Amino acid sequence: MTLAANYIEGKWEKGSDTLISVNAACPDDVIGHYASAGPILAAAAISAARTAATAWESTTTQIRSDLLYSIADELLVHKDALAALITREAGKTRADALAEVVRSAHVFRFFAGEAVRYGGENLSSVRPNVGVQISRHPIGVISLITPWNFPLAIAAWKMAPAMAFGNTLVLKPSELTPAVACELFRLLERVGTPAGVANLVNGEGAELGPALLEGVDAVSFTGSVATGRRIAALASQHMLRTQLEMGGKNPLVVLDDADLNVAVECALNGAFFSAGQRCTASSRLIVAEGIHDRFVAALVARMRQLVVGRPQDPDTQIGPLISRAQLDKVLGYIELAKSEGAVLTEGGDSLDIDGGYFLRPALLTETTPQMRVNQEEIFGPVASVIRVSDYEEALAVANCTPYGLSSGICTTSHSKAQHFRLHVRSGLTMVNLPTAGLDYHVPFGGTKSSSFGPREQGTYAVDFYTSLKTAYVGY
Ligand code: NAD
Repeated sequence: MTLAANYIEGKWEKGSDTLISVNAACPDDVIGHYASAGPILAAAAISAARTAATAWESTTTQIRSDLLYSIADELLVHKDALAALITREAGKTRADALAEVVRSAHVFRFFAGEAVRYGGENLSSVRPNVGVQISRHPIGVISLITPWNFPLAIAAWKMAPAMAFGNTLVLKPSELTPAVACELFRLLERVGTPAGVANLVNGEGAELGPALLEGVDAVSFTGSVATGRRIAALASQHMLRTQLEMGGKNPLVVLDDADLNVAVECALNGAFFSAGQRCTASSRLIVAEGIHDRFVAALVARMRQLVVGRPQDPDTQIGPLISRAQLDKVLGYIELAKSEGAVLTEGGDSLDIDGGYFLRPALLTETTPQMRVNQEEIFGPVASVIRVSDYEEALAVANCTPYGLSSGICTTSHSKAQHFRLHVRSGLTMVNLPTAGLDYHVPFGGTKSSSFGPREQGTYAVDFYTSLKTAYVGY
């Protein structure tokens, strides 16, 4: 049976087509058939959000804050069931899925606080008998387009600030994770979210994309650079406020003076956990000559201890890739790297578990900075080692891709760490920590092709989700 999977003006609507959601770890396990919206339903969702906007922006900040707190509470009450669904639909390990639900609740709580905290400024004018008041206002209706790799948390970190600051929204989740999105909206319905404030349309991005940019005031997107470019081109035709968070080719630099254990654990976690399907994954390990061989040997030894398997098993550390297409893409990159002269030193073989898309984490060595495997996002459990002679070369290599999301350095030198922090071209940077793994109360985003527009998350999110008005008041 096809489930009504589009939540528009407080009602569940059937659609024009059907998405079939399957268990990433066991594709024969069908989670459900979800009705997808066509462009007409997408337009209806935008119109519902527009109708709801006037009342929602006039509610007190206390009402908005209370609603966000109740969403957070409800997420925590149902955290185990939600985590189990994330594990089933997105293939995340139990620990990762649970952490994602808890993080989503923290995000809603944070913005429940921000809803009553944000404000403007009062300044003196440079002219006599004039005051200046700068105030923040909702933008209006916002389209939110999200990927599959954090099916709950990314929706949360866009929806919470949108609602907190008085906007209404339409969410279009990935076509690979409609079940998690529907569960989130059932939860919103249960806690009494006013009709039209938050709407959901499921479906293929290419089909719904143009409709989602018609008649809205802003778009916030997370996904690949290729899709981001398409959205930016369309959004500019409508002069939309645009926020794009995209991919990465994140470097982890390991200097000769690094603590070897710290460096290996940072690489292991950053490159392979979540099956490498994190935009902040360390896909390039830039290693100084003096520590290179010891680092590779120690990393390979740790990789052999990793438990790859069914994501619901408590001991599993690495689950499956999301789809056959993603597994094929990753295997294709490993072959390409070998054909360009890289050495597959460890892993890289697919595993036959329940017909799922499992890959043993792969380490490529003897790679060079300009190989495609070091320039293009792979989005799987694959890391390549680039040997460098010193810190200066490491920094130059770290900066030599079109991406600039996250970066990291392992060193015991305070001055090298400080220099790296200042000169690496990325929006996030880590010292003696994995390139992935971030807090919810501080800004998130990158430079170069990785990001476009204002930052997400933390107190800085207000810059995208509100517009400023400057009033001059004579007295
Ligand atoms: P994707 O670009 O294929 O899809 C993302 C979303 O865009 C999906 O909802 C999809 O349906 C939609 N979409 C596709 N074509 C569209 C179009 N023409 N118009 C409008 N929407 C369209 O990305 P994905 O495979 O779902 O996710 C993986 C990518 O996301 C990776 O590149 C990863 O680095 C990136 N990502 C970035 C961040 C970040 O915050 N920087 C976080 C997570 C994932």
